[in-house]
Amino acid sequence: MQPTAEQPPAEQISVDSERCVGAGQCVLTAPRVFDQDDLGLVVLLAAQPAGAGESGRVHEAAQLCPGRAIAIGPVGGIGPVVGIGPLGG
Ligand code: SF4
Repeated sequence: MQPTAEQPPAEQISVDSERCVGAGQCVLTAPRVFDQDDLGLVVLLAAQPAGAGESGRVHEAAQLCPGRAIAIGPVGGIGPVVGIGPLGG
């Protein structure tokens, strides 16, 4: 079935707090999905975006993240992580 605006493809969001530098861009961009702990490090509040609009904001947050700490991949994590820059840099 083709994804629609109402039914985006299933995505899984993950974060790596060891890469997080506490810039907070993710919280400003997608506040339902991301938060920061007392040290300023990212906390994942929702493992999947609620819709197409939020999915777009999560992708934007991943691209804005200076620590490249946000990964977006298929549900189940079987395939490669997509939608963000290289995690090695
Ligand atoms: S944008 Fe990246 S570095 Fe900044 S708080 Fe979020 S995960 Fe951490």
